[in-house]
Amino acid sequence: MNKVAVIGSGTMGNGIAQVVATAGYQVTIIDIKDEYLKNGFETIEKNLNRSIKKEKLDEVDKEKIINRIKLSTEYQDIKDVDIVIEAASEKIDIKKEIFEKLDKILNEDVIIASNTSALSLTELATVTSRPEKVLGIHFFNPVTIMKLVEVIKNIITSQDTYKKAKEFVQTLNKTPIEVNESPGFVVNRLLIPMINEAIFLVKEGVACPDDIDKAMKLGANHPLGPLALADLIGLDVCLSIMETLYNEFSDSKYRPAPLLKKKVRAGHLGRKTGEGFYQY
Ligand code: NAD
Repeated sequence: MNKVAVIGSGTMGNGIAQVVATAGYQVTIIDIKDEYLKNGFETIEKNLNRSIKKEKLDEVDKEKIINRIKLSTEYQDIKDVDIVIEAASEKIDIKKEIFEKLDKILNEDVIIASNTSALSLTELATVTSRPEKVLGIHFFNPVTIMKLVEVIKNIITSQDTYKKAKEFVQTLNKTPIEVNESPGFVVNRLLIPMINEAIFLVKEGVACPDDIDKAMKLGANHPLGPLALADLIGLDVCLSIMETLYNEFSDSKYRPAPLLKKKVRAGHLGRKTGEGFYQY
């Protein structure tokens, strides 16, 4: 593999593109508007500059990484890539449309991976003519820092695809774990219901956000409290994951907290909008 495409230049897309370019691959990022691509690219530049300040990177290597990254709003520009990582918004209809488009333009042996947090990979696979080449490659936020990648088999993913994807992840200096498809996979099945429960605690007046976060940092040794983490992940992403768990398992234990829904409706999505459970 040499050429990679990343679909979506948001929180995850720009991080994935940076990691992929740093590992030496040529990467093209696709988004729907130039403005979104520009924002994503600026974030990558900012991150690289921070690494220079910390003396983890020099100017020459920064330029090399930057030169490996291309931006485009045209899917035609990625027709010769070897693997695609889709990191667009967590909405099944948006992702299905993207998968259909990719399937039409890409060579039949190209692997199409999704960075989805909880949606069904089997559902995405079946809109393509290559379901055995579709799987989940699930990075964590912030991508440049977090070591784990869940590599997720859908029910039809071939062994060959799975092996290639795992090897690709290892070349990115990340640690893959093997996961069989299930809503929320491993990390989000555990993590997002905990965040949701923390939001119930806020609404019930049991403790304020700052004290809930302190409780989990000092009492459970978590590096970040659940509400600060929710703001980092994005409250819209947290809500989408809870809705997926609730709908897929039809189990009331996964009901999203009404306060989470309210905040998302108000556009208070966390760090990316400047306000969530905290102000930024
Ligand atoms: P985001 O909202 O920050 O970015 C999504 C980007 O996708 C936006 O720039 C949007 O314009 C773009 N997009 C929408 N439709 C598109 C299309 N048709 N073609 C190309 N681009 C399109 O979202 P995010 O937080 O980066 O999440 C992206 C994916 O990664 C989601 O599936 C999410 O569940 C998953 N994820 C998120 C996190 C997290 O912490 N935020 C962690 C792991 C996985």
